[in-house]
Amino acid sequence: MRLPFALARRFVAAETLSGAFPALDAIHEKGLATTLDLLGEYIKDRSLAAEARDEYISLVETVGERYSGTERDGRNISIKLSMMGQKIDEDFCLDNLRALLAVAKQHDVFVRLDMEGTDITDSTLAMFEEVYPHYPDNVGVVLQAYLKRTAADIDRMCELKARVRLCKGAYREPASLAHQDMKTIRERYVVYMKQLLTDGRYPAIATHDDLLIGATRSFVDQHGIAPDRFEFQMLYGMRPATQEQIVRDGYRMRVYVPYGRQWYPYFTRRLRERKENVWFVLSTFFRR
Ligand SMILES: Cc1cc2nc3c(=O)[nH]c(=O)nc-3n(C[C@H](O)[C@H](O)[C@H](O)COP(=O)(O)OP(=O)(O)OC[C@H]3O[C@@H](n4cnc5c(N)ncnc54)[C@H](O)[C@@H]3O)c2cc1C
Repeated sequence: MRLPFALARRFVAAETLSGAFPALDAIHEKGLATTLDLLGEYIKDRSLAAEARDEYISLVETVGERYSGTERDGRNISIKLSMMGQKIDEDFCLDNLRALLAVAKQHDVFVRLDMEGTDITDSTLAMFEEVYPHYPDNVGVVLQAYLKRTAADIDRMCELKARVRLCKGAYREPASLAHQDMKTIRERYVVYMKQLLTDGRYPAIATHDDLLIGATRSFVDQHGIAPDRFEFQMLYGMRPATQEQIVRDGYRMRVYVPYGRQWYPYFTRRLRERKENVWFVLSTFFRR
């Protein structure tokens, strides 16, 4: 059974790219930046993975052309390697990634490799390291503060001067691999945030958590780190007033804007994260 898209509208801009443009325009008009995410994950069929690569390429061309020569910071997309065949054949996926990045470089578009479950963390970081030397300004990665391995991964990314998005981590992982309690995850997040701001290159601090946003603001103020050396990131539909306030306070904010017909897994992750999201969705639904 297909659930009605109206349920997901709060967190997903539209089911098509053209349908997402009004949401993007509204965000840019307020001085915020965007990264576009074509929804989907874990494709198991080679021809569907090739289709996903072609859709990503066409997305890069579209945002490249739409925002070229404008003040709007929209030449940025977020992708999932599992959409381009990572679980089928890593060499095939790597070829797809290279094809995408060649077009991204041509159009001056930045491509962020979202981080998924721990079954593919190693493979994602390995592919990133393969392509990064060829596209240092067009590709970045994500590290998840809840993973126990992340301390070493942060060191490595700082050494490479790679652009990292830091987030807590959204997938269910076992206690052997991931911290489970919020206190420890926040503590790890703060340690990595400081390291990325000190030794990394243009990190993205991705969180809706006031505690972590406050810790970041204090750290950059204390250390005289200019607001153009990093950016905050939040998800579309989450704390929009706070997103705008952060920009009014003089910081950069990029909104992660998902679109596409495969919205269900993304949508359920958002619901799992916060009870308030469930209530919001239910109340929207019953108001219809
Ligand atoms: C831009 C972006 C990209 C991401 N990319 C990835 C990725 O590639 N891989 C991945 O695994 N995960 C990703 N995530 C998800 C991330 O890992 C977390 O699951 C998600 O952000 C929830 O953690 P949080 O720190 O934002 O806040 P939470 O842990 O959900 O909440 C902590 C506290 O923040 C405050 N808060 C949070 N939301 C709200 C709200 N709506 N209103 C009011 N207060 C609120 C509350 O005080 C709350 O107690 C991404 C997140 C963002 C923002």
